[in-house]
Order: sequence, then structure tokens, then C-alpha cells
Amino acid sequence: MKKLVVITGASSGIGMELARRFSAEGHPVLMLARRREVMEELNLPNSLCRSVDVTDLEAMQSAVREAEELYGKTDLLINCAGLMLLGYPAEQDFDEWSRMIDVNVKGVLTGTKAVLSDMIARNEGTIINIGSIAGRKTFDNHSVYCGTKYAVHAMTESMRREVSGSNVRMIVIAPGVVETPLLSHTSNQEIKDNYNLWKQEIDGGLEPSQIADCAWFAYQMPQEVCVREIVIAKTKQAD
Ligand code: NDP
Repeated sequence: MKKLVVITGASSGIGMELARRFSAEGHPVLMLARRREVMEELNLPNSLCRSVDVTDLEAMQSAVREAEELYGKTDLLINCAGLMLLGYPAEQDFDEWSRMIDVNVKGVLTGTKAVLSDMIARNEGTIINIGSIAGRKTFDNHSVYCGTKYAVHAMTESMRREVSGSNVRMIVIAPGVVETPLLSHTSNQEIKDNYNLWKQEIDGGLEPSQIADCAWFAYQMPQEVCVREIVIAKTKQAD
């Protein structure tokens, strides 16, 4: 059997497509998100679905250990779970800022904590973090979201340097707009409407499967090759 792939945010959008893709390539997958039923409906072979909040380190570690007892050590972790709550800086609720920091930043660290030391001990393994073009440049109404994604990019690159000697790969994939329910959680209707108008101007976002293609490309390179960063967006997306 191929090696275990752990995917957070597997109940929707990009994460769900990643699970489909890596399963189709023959990998056992551990699918993590809060909504377990949606993941179970996919009915992927050699898969385990667990309802885990990515901010909960103990729950994350216990789900990973359970999957590893069934399928062997984690060879690839994809930290994909995320939340985008756009807002005006002076008006946005503190709670929305706080949730984005918890899920987008701490949520990447719980997964990393669950697998990284084992990968270093084995001298193999890969972690792919889903960043964003909003982790490389700023956009209006995105300030805290951008802050969380800049953090993902900084942590990935910094850790990559430090674990490189152990043959462990750390990769960041930075997509532009992708067609998923991500925007639906933003509470400000005016911001959502303007975002959707802008999306129409670029003929819509990328397909989630195109992000899965990028993850598969980076992963299937030999372990000695690290594709450090992939930035991908619709050609018509100027920023
Ligand atoms: P979706 O809203 O479709 O998916 C988000 C996923 O994150 C869901 O599976 C959700 O599962 C999970 N999630 C959210 N909060 C938690 C939590 N506390 N614990 C566990 N899981 C959680 O969005 P996308 O697929 O678009 O987003 C995936 C990643 O891609 C995010 O990190 C996002 O920032 C990034 N991205 C997306 C872009 C886009 O345009 N769509 C562009 C650039 C980056 P559940 O609700 O079941 O817990």
C-alpha cells in the first residue's frame, strides 16, 4: 500500500479535491474537518474521516495516531483548513479576527506538531501548507486574512530551512481565487458582492482540481527535490 496522506479541511473545496486526488493515486487518506458526514459521503477507499477542530492539538494528534496505526506513518500532511472573513478594519468584530488567527495559523501548527518530529527521525516526509496570493501581497478588506497567510508563508519557509538537512520537505502553495465556498463565511454582504463582481471580471476562479494538480506535482517529485513554492491564479487575475 502507498503511504499515508493527512489532509485538513477535507470536507469542502480544495481539501476535498485533494482527498479525492491522493486517494485516486492509491494513497490511504486521513480526512480531517469538523463535518465528518460530508467526508464520509465521499466513501473513499482506505480512508479514515475524523471530526477534528484544527485548533485542538490533542484531537489532531489522536486522529493522526489512529490513522498511523492503520496505514503506517504519515508521509504527507496537507494543512488546508482555513477561514476567510473579509472586513473593514475599523468595523470588523474582534471575534472574526481571532477565529482566522486560530484556524489559519494555529491550525497549521497543530498538524505540523503531530507529524514533524517523526518525519525528522525518519529522514523523510513532506508538509504542504496552503497559503495564498494574500500571503504575498495585501488586498483591501483582507488585512487579518492576509496577516494569517503571510504567517503561513513565513513559518513554512523558516521551518523548511531548518528541517532541510533531515530530508523533510516543506512546501507552500499560494493560490489566487479558487471556486469554493470560502467567501460564504464573510459576514459583510457589501464586501461579498464586490468580491463576486471582481470575480466575474476574471471569468471566475480556478478549479479546486487545479490546486490538487499542483500538490500532486510537488509531492511526486523525488524526495531529494523540494518545490518550495507554487503560486497559481487565473491568467486574468492581475493582482
Ligand atoms: P472551503 O470553505 O471550501 O473549505 C474550508 C475547509 O476548512 C472546510 O473543509 C472546513 O471544514 C475547514 N475548516 C474550517 N475551520 C475549521 C476548523 N476550525 N477545524 C477544522 N477544519 C476547519 O475553502 P477552500 O477550500 O477555498 O479553502 C481551503 C484553503 O485554501 C484555505 O486555507 C484558504 O485560505 C485557502 N485558499 C483559498 C482560496 C480560494 O479562493 N478559495 C485562495 C487561496 C487560498 P469544516 O467546516 O467541516 O470544519
